[in-house]
Amino acid sequence: MEKRVDHVVTRPGRRHGDPDVQIPVAEDLTTVPGIPLRETDLSFYSRTYPQETQNIEKAADRQWVWTVYSPEMSEYRKDHNDISEPLIDAAAVSGDLEPTGTPTGEDATEAIRRKARELGFGEVGFTKYDRRYTYTSKRHWTKYEHAICLALEQNYVQTQSLPGMDAERAHFGTYEIEGALLLDLADHIRELGYRAQVHSPNDNSAPYIPMFVAAGLGQLGANGQLLSPHFGSRARLAIITTDAPVTYDQPVDYGIHQFCQVCQVCVNRCPGRALVKEKVWWRGVEKNKLIYERCRPVMARYDGCAVCMKTCPIQRFGMPAVMEHYVATGQVLGKGTHLLEGYTFMEKGYFGPGELPLFDRNFFEIPHGRNEEWLFQQFKEKLVKEGIPSQEELVGFARDVKKIIDKGNSTLGDE
Ligand code: SF4
Ligand code: SF4
Repeated sequence: MEKRVDHVVTRPGRRHGDPDVQIPVAEDLTTVPGIPLRETDLSFYSRTYPQETQNIEKAADRQWVWTVYSPEMSEYRKDHNDISEPLIDAAAVSGDLEPTGTPTGEDATEAIRRKARELGFGEVGFTKYDRRYTYTSKRHWTKYEHAICLALEQNYVQTQSLPGMDAERAHFGTYEIEGALLLDLADHIRELGYRAQVHSPNDNSAPYIPMFVAAGLGQLGANGQLLSPHFGSRARLAIITTDAPVTYDQPVDYGIHQFCQVCQVCVNRCPGRALVKEKVWWRGVEKNKLIYERCRPVMARYDGCAVCMKTCPIQRFGMPAVMEHYVATGQVLGKGTHLLEGYTFMEKGYFGPGELPLFDRNFFEIPHGRNEEWLFQQFKEKLVKEGIPSQEELVGFARDVKKIIDKGNSTLGDE
């Protein structure tokens, strides 16, 4: 049944130079620009329970994944880390570099946007760098107040083949390209006479999605990912902060907040049953909250999984086509079809609409928390089961704790 259109969103085309696209938003999908937000709650949680990067907070399972990787995955990931390391190191010190040009004092928004699009970024937006999201370990590192939000599209064909190594090459390969492009764009901003700090996609200073939403580049999907107009969540996100004079973009209501409640494809297709239908209020934001502990074991053992990305119609067909179809029919484009919903899970075989792989309970038992937390947990369980440990075991435990302290808790670059 045809739907009434509430408003039409106009966005730049997918590639630099492409004509603008129009996205009709049906009346029954309209909610708020961006995401429903309680500012006082957001501020309270950021002050009282500040967030920390998963590189630290989830270090135990991020190290564990290496023990379940296939030999091919393990080798590829080591190569990827070798390529990423110098890019991460260069980003870490980028904010200290002096400008190389003389500033004109004019608004630099369009000059930066044009350069970013020429470099290949598919979505570019400007907003305030919202320090309420900054990870504790990055609080003294972040320097400038304006955020340039940059999304680099991941290969379409390779992504449709996931889960598998081909798609993982697209995933990690996009990060490698992006890491280098960000450094180029930061150089350009310095040539304009301003400072630029690269927030690496492999060493995040904060969860970036809220700032992308504030910059109008998309809305949060039920899969926990940013759904942007052209490629949905099939993109890798990064930020550059700067002191250049820029004009902020505004959040947009693309209809996604409500559309996901109608669609639910990712929720129904998630092999780990890690996605949740109902929205909850979480740290001041209304969203579908992913259950990390049900996702991680699947991701680690099945080449990154990402079924929630592949089966999303916005990723597959783009937002204009999906929203036009919804307005014309009241239906979700591709829902219930093998084309959109089907996937193959290694030795488990093919799963079409309505079918999911099964895992036993032990499958979901993985290390939790920081490295030292996991060590203490294991020590406690041994103590309860076997009583007071020997002197030798105690010394071994102390050595393991010391090793973690010396190395630091971070698993930087592991994702
Ligand atoms: S990565 Fe896989 S297991 Fe995790 S939420 Fe997505 S579909 Fe579910
Ligand atoms: S699959 Fe459907 S419910 Fe899930 S994120 Fe995409 S649009 Fe939203």
